[in-house]
Amino acid sequence: MTALFPWQQTVWQHIVDRVEQQRMPHAVLLTGVAGLGKKQLAVKMAESLLCLAADKHFNACGVCHSCQIMQAGNHPDHLTIRSEEAGKSIKIDQIRALKEKQSLTPSVAKWKTVVIESADLMTNSAANSLLKLLEEPQNNTILILTTNAVHRLPVTIRSRCQQMHLSTPDYSMTLNWLDSQGVATDADQLRKISSLTLDAPFAIVHALETNEWQSYQQIQQDFDQLIQQQANPVQLASQWQQLDLVKVMHQLLSAVKSRLQQQYLEYAETSVTQHYWHIADCIVNTIKLISSSNNYNKTLLIEDFMVSVMRITHTRSAIH
Ligand SMILES: [Zn+2]
Repeated sequence: MTALFPWQQTVWQHIVDRVEQQRMPHAVLLTGVAGLGKKQLAVKMAESLLCLAADKHFNACGVCHSCQIMQAGNHPDHLTIRSEEAGKSIKIDQIRALKEKQSLTPSVAKWKTVVIESADLMTNSAANSLLKLLEEPQNNTILILTTNAVHRLPVTIRSRCQQMHLSTPDYSMTLNWLDSQGVATDADQLRKISSLTLDAPFAIVHALETNEWQSYQQIQQDFDQLIQQQANPVQLASQWQQLDLVKVMHQLLSAVKSRLQQQYLEYAETSVTQHYWHIADCIVNTIKLISSSNNYNKTLLIEDFMVSVMRITHTRSAIH
């Protein structure tokens, strides 16, 4: 059955307590940055709720009829809803299928469970349709939504779910876990990748496996060129277009923060530190814009960002 990861313990204990107190909410919203295993945790919750003989720590037994059909992927009391194609929306038809399912009584287990992965990908009409279900909860159905972009979910949906937030683990916990998985890499490189992936363990593993992080090293160089007014924003924007913009912005924010720290340590001129503060503002604004809408124009957003950074540093061509 699905494993529990060390950084998920606190949230899991909370769920166990709620089950013991028979206060399990009808709708749970699992939040946290990408790469913490929220989807696995949602599946684990469903497995345990459906299991006919879960233990006192609310772990599914793995051998009962319900566990067996769950593992085979054809449990009649369980439904997973996710985007049918990477990057595409979750459509209203998919939520309608859930509606039909809701009207049935559980056939094997005590509960019916529904997992909606990356719920922020729902179209407006899909979200409205789900909202109607959340407004009339059924006693025997538990919905588990996951998202790493909670602000993209309508407030009406959020307010009807019990939000459970998965925090990013301490760096030492991440290191121990990576070690236990046999992931070996240079400490310095790991630090860089970790800041790029917001310290999320699965995102670190993914970055290492795909060499994705190398393209982000390029970002660092591009950014330096921008600051020194040596970049062509249109050309650069078309390159950045290929990347995950949220990751890029978080990487730049962490780079700017560490440069600011350095400037303070060196008692740098106020004008230089001010430039960095303004750039940090720009980055935060860009992250806000990305988070608040599904339909932003990526190229335009990147170009705007680059032009703003160049404008900030224009009066002083060589901040470093
Ligand atoms: Zn079982």
